[in-house]
Amino acid sequence: MAVLQRDLRRSDTFPVFLSRKRQADPLPSTYELRAFLQRMPKIDLHRHLEGSLRLQTLADIAMEHGIDLPSLKTEDLRRYVQAREEQPDYHRFLAKFRLLRRFYRSREALERIAAEVVADAAADNVRYLELRFNPIALSRAQRFRLQDVVEWVTDAIARAQQTDSITVRLILQIGRDEVLSVAEEILELALTYRDRGIVGMDLAGDEVNYPAHRLAPVFRRARQEGLGVTIHAGEVGGAANVRDAILLFHAQRIGHGIHALENSEVVRLLLERNIALEVCPTSNLQTGAVHSLSHHPLPDMLALGLRTTLNTDDPSISDTTLTDEYLIAVTAMGLGWTQIRGLVFNALEAAFLTEEEREALRGQFGEWNEIRPPDFL
Ligand SMILES: [Zn+2]
Repeated sequence: MAVLQRDLRRSDTFPVFLSRKRQADPLPSTYELRAFLQRMPKIDLHRHLEGSLRLQTLADIAMEHGIDLPSLKTEDLRRYVQAREEQPDYHRFLAKFRLLRRFYRSREALERIAAEVVADAAADNVRYLELRFNPIALSRAQRFRLQDVVEWVTDAIARAQQTDSITVRLILQIGRDEVLSVAEEILELALTYRDRGIVGMDLAGDEVNYPAHRLAPVFRRARQEGLGVTIHAGEVGGAANVRDAILLFHAQRIGHGIHALENSEVVRLLLERNIALEVCPTSNLQTGAVHSLSHHPLPDMLALGLRTTLNTDDPSISDTTLTDEYLIAVTAMGLGWTQIRGLVFNALEAAFLTEEEREALRGQFGEWNEIRPPDFL
């Protein structure tokens, strides 16, 4: 494995080399490793519903609703949906969400997409998933009632969990450019529907142009009410955004947070408060948050003792799975078995669950004691 890692580290085309669909002649151990990581029970705490739309489903919805697309062939749609082939760019990456929300066109479409997200995660052996979505953006895109969007998603997720071996919880997302009254409305919805699996609130969007301090009281109240709070910060913005997320927004988890390492005081704050970091390497590469996967700070975050977790962000936009993210963590960043295990169990401890539910999840992950990693890991 050591030889494989060195070879891969030398290659600037590493993400393409590892692509499931474009591998021409991969080393056999890459297949073996990927199969092992795929079988491994996993947890994803950071995945967006609006970034998780199958290409075939997108084509079907376009056809049904007469949405104009450059092509209806899934291979042609890759360039339209995915960021893999493009120059890394944060704002272009965010713009994909506006584009994809056009396809959450009807109740049936939303329910289908939500069910497929759960099925795809379960097929990747994700046993616990926290899925987030922006209800106001989805309702505005199609003039749906806000409550309807939340009910459709929560119902679809509840149904999907009955057929797949996975537990799913939901996080309601607020954009950084949102007005205060709408953010308050979203919080009320989260509280109203918390018995339908809503466990937290998220702040997302452009952290460079929107510090969003005016929205902080909404998130502080969410914490007081017992909801989890996670804030996208330190993704492309600086460590100060991470500090604000903790001190002003009372975040227990940070979406990405990779730029926190630029400031030792912020690192100390993360350690003192045991704040979890939701790291998504492929997304970080595609937004330009990191220049290469081999220079990603994930190994440093673990070495510092930060409560670091590994996640997908947007499987469809990034053309990834959680298995792929673990594969990258091993082959591009050189993580070993102890660190891999640490990432999974950090996620278990950082999940927005009651202690009783967490204990039950720990029980489910007891099978980890039986896992024997391959020799090369
Ligand atoms: Zn995200």
